[in-house]
This record gives sequence, C-alpha cells and structure tokens, in this order.
Amino acid sequence: MASVAMIARPQRWDAPFGPEMADADVQRLLALPEFASIDAEAFPKHTPLDGILRNDTRIVRYHPGDIIVREGDYGNSAFLVVNGNLRVVISPSLPRNLIGRQNSERKNFIQALGQLWTNRTVPEVRDTSRYGGQSVREGGAQTEADARVFLQDVPAVLDSHNTAQLGPSTLFGELAALGRVPRTATIFAEEESELLEIRWQGLRELRKYDPGWRKTIDERYRENALKVHLKSSPYFTGLSEVELNEVADATLFESHGSFEWHVTYKRMRDQGKADKEPVIGRQGDYPDGLLMIRAGFARVSIKMGNGERTLTYLGAGDSFGYDELWASHLGNDVSLQTSLKAVGYVDLLRVPAPILEKYVFNKVGHHVASPLHHLATRTVASDAPLEWAVEQRFINGTMAMLIDLERCVRCDDCVRACASTHGGNPRFIRHGRTFDHWMVANACMHCADPVCMIGCPTGAIHRSLETGAVVINDDTCIGCGTCANSCPYNNIRLVEIRDIEGKMVRDPDSQKPIMKATKCDLCETNPGGPACVRACAHDALKRVNFQGDETFGAST
Ligand code: SF4
Ligand code: SF4
Repeated sequence: MASVAMIARPQRWDAPFGPEMADADVQRLLALPEFASIDAEAFPKHTPLDGILRNDTRIVRYHPGDIIVREGDYGNSAFLVVNGNLRVVISPSLPRNLIGRQNSERKNFIQALGQLWTNRTVPEVRDTSRYGGQSVREGGAQTEADARVFLQDVPAVLDSHNTAQLGPSTLFGELAALGRVPRTATIFAEEESELLEIRWQGLRELRKYDPGWRKTIDERYRENALKVHLKSSPYFTGLSEVELNEVADATLFESHGSFEWHVTYKRMRDQGKADKEPVIGRQGDYPDGLLMIRAGFARVSIKMGNGERTLTYLGAGDSFGYDELWASHLGNDVSLQTSLKAVGYVDLLRVPAPILEKYVFNKVGHHVASPLHHLATRTVASDAPLEWAVEQRFINGTMAMLIDLERCVRCDDCVRACASTHGGNPRFIRHGRTFDHWMVANACMHCADPVCMIGCPTGAIHRSLETGAVVINDDTCIGCGTCANSCPYNNIRLVEIRDIEGKMVRDPDSQKPIMKATKCDLCETNPGGPACVRACAHDALKRVNFQGDETFGAST
C-alpha cells in the first residue's frame, strides 16, 4: 500500500499579519470607539472579531516624515489612525523622487549609442555612492517594517503643497485595498503616530459582519470611486449631478473570484490544473442590471454542444448585458445570450434595470451598439489562440513580448541588445510558453493588473507616469523579493549587485550580498523604444497588448 504523508491542513490565520500582536494589544484595540461599537456576536465563530484584530491587523508606528502610502501605489491594506496626526498631500503631487520613484530622464542619441558599445565584463554594476542620498530607512533585517521612504524636509513640503490633516479615528486606503486600484494620494506622518494597518481580508470581514463599517466603506466608495466611474461611462454622460447621485445610490458593487488570483493561479498552474471561474451571469438567465467592469477580467462564453466557446474577455471599462436589457425595454422577452465568468478577480458595478430604463433607454432613445456584436462573425478556428491567452492569463499583458517562431532564426540579437542596454545583463529570457508558432517570452508584460506592485514596502516598483510601463527604482529597491514572488509569470529576477570596480556589494552587518529586483523596463530611458524590437532584423519580435491586438493568432 502506498504510504501517505500527513500534515495539518493550512488554516487562514496560520500567518498572522502582525506576529507581535499581544492579548493586551487586542484588548486595547477593542476599546477603541471604532471597535467598541461593533456587535461581536454578529461575527461567526470561525472568524471572531478579536481573531480578526489579532490576525488580520498590525500596529505600526511612524516617525515624522515617514511616508505611509504613496500616490500610485497598489496596496492590499487600509489604515486606521490610532494616535498622532498625518498629512495628506492634496496638490500638487509630491515630486516623484521624494516618494521613492525614479525620474526617468531619456538618454540622448549619443549616450544611447555609446551604451551599445560598452561591453561590460561584469554585469549588474552600480555606482553605489548614489545609494547614500536615498531617503530610505533601512534596518539590518531589511523587511517591510524597517524600510521606509521618508520626507527629509517636512516644513518645505507643507509650505509648497496644499495638504490636509488626518487625525485619530481616520480610516484611509480602503478603496485601493478592496478595489484593486492605485492609491490616489500620498500620506505621511506629521508627528510620532500609531496606526492600525488592516489587511484586506480583515477589512472584508469587518465590512461583511458589521453594519457600521459597511456603511462607512460603502458611502466612501460611492462618493469617491463610483461616481467617477459612472461619469466616465458613455451610458451616463450628460446626467446632472442629482441624476448621477440617484444612479450611484441604486448601483450595487460586487467582486467575484479571488482577490489574490495570482497566488491561486500559480498554485493551480504548477499542479497542472485550471483555475476556477465563478459565474457572474449565466446564459439563459434574465439580466437584472447592466454589469460594468471596474477592475480585473471576465470571460464571455456561449454554449456549444456540451462545452462552451469563448467569445471574448472583458476588462476595465467594458460592460455586459446591455443588448438584452435594451431588447427587454422594447418589449421582447430576451434572456442573457452569453455567460460571464470571472477570470481571476473582477470588481464590477451592477446598475439596476429600472435605473437604465429611466436614465439611459428613455433619454438616449436608441440602441448603443454593443462591442460584442462583431464577435458573432468570428470563426471557431480563431478561438483557440484567445482561449490559450486567457488560460495563461496573458490577457493581463499590455506590452507582452511575442515572438513569431517561424521568423525567428535564434540569433539572440534581441537578447544581446537588451544586455547592452542594461549594463551587461539581459532583462528577459528568450524562452516562454508557446502556442502554434507563437511564443510569449519571459519578459515583463507591463500588466493591466500589475500584481507585482502590491506590497512593495518602499514603492520602488511603480507605474511610469510618462509611459505607463511598470518600472523599478533601483535606488529605493531593498531586494526583499515581494514583487518577484507576486509576479505570476516569473518575470522579475533578483540580482546581486557589484560596485564600479566589479566587487560584490555586501551588507556590512549581515555580510549578505545586496540584492536588487530587475526586469524589463521597456528601455524607458532610451530614445526609440525597446532595444529588443529594434534589434530583430527578421521582424519576429513584437510587443503586443493582448487586449485588442490582432497580431497574435492572425496566422495560426
Ligand atoms: S512583473 Fe509580472 S505582474 Fe508585474 S507587470 Fe511585469 S509581468 Fe506583470
Ligand atoms: S524587491 Fe521588489 S518589492 Fe522589494 S523593494 Fe525591490 S521592487 Fe519593491
């Protein structure tokens, strides 16, 4: 008989957010007005309120000038001010170098050319003197808790920026934590402050089981995020503020799938299994509202024999169910013609049918053509590449490196060009998953949902304002590896750096090598775009946006 190994089934709270949370801390938190008013009996036995505080929160202390959240960061936690005062920067935004971003100055033509001829024998060389000026607090352990970007001159910031004070009992960061959107402002400590950081799982439970927390979070969501999204939709343009408020009040917001889809996706992929796709709308059911996607991806499919055929996938800004609702408005009895399923994680709005009747159909008075219409003309044969791209989650890529293997002669000119541009080490591997004669190489795809950015303690990995590329500021990267572990496509590498004499750089206390995260930066500072594309003499390598690019699958 085959022997079996026994291990205890992992539990949700095996890895508490703040391992140092003591009984006394939990009791102190329970006495705060925000928690004292909660009915603890309303929480289920397996997720008690004190358990949430013990396991899903941590107490963090900040010094004056410490940056707590940065504009543009992705985060998966919210903050409650326990003691002290913070400042939120309203306008203008702080200069990027002050919040740990890189200023990407473009090289001129001569500099760009010169770098191609600089044949470094030692890769990953850094001028280490420049790290001295960085505003990053570093402790020996170099963990999230002891590495922070801080403002060196708070009075100067207060003088030159419009800011507002945030005092005790303020909650912030919940929209980014629950809605997978970037943080909208930078907040720093004005004085010694104590904050309760709540990871999104705990926040979700507080919202679920306590009406007070639900009301606070939902009201702020409606006020700050929902109306902005509705305003940007063509369906609701032209509505007055009062009308828009009525639409916002009636709109439901919901999420489907796993918020941490990249974790489950990686696990399932390694086990050779397909990830589950929760059904949001089922073919044959009657729609009760228009579904508008705010973040994430969803698959549109239609029944075919015993299986299903994928028609397309929808991302942020797309909607589902409009045609059927319009047909109902005209008096026809039409159920959903397709199904909608969450691919990973989807955050969406559900605008009830009566609201559409009142503010869209009756006002617009004609049918707004649905983008799903043209899909009916596609052949079944052309589905396969799309199906594959969805399975592999490449639909997340906005600048994926696609290589046509029928054109590629394996000369590696692209790899050499990348290495020359990046100090001797290429930032991608000419290897990857293949479909027919297409290969998606292991190069950062500059994703629509860049999960690598979640949880970077210094904000070193961020989106470039100029190009939208996901880039890493080498000066503030502490080499913790959070981003590399989160990237579902394994497109970030941690490298040991060397000084300009070629000597390995070590931490003086631990003697461990100093590591930095590296990945494709789309040659952001180079004129002319990515060196890999320009180097390919066979026109085999392209950077493609999987959402809408026609290259892939055109000749499979
Ligand atoms: S590092 Fe990975 S997750 Fe991040 S943008 Fe690149 S491919 Fe996407
Ligand atoms: S390794 Fe990644 S997550 Fe860690 S500091 Fe560097 S960029 Fe941020």
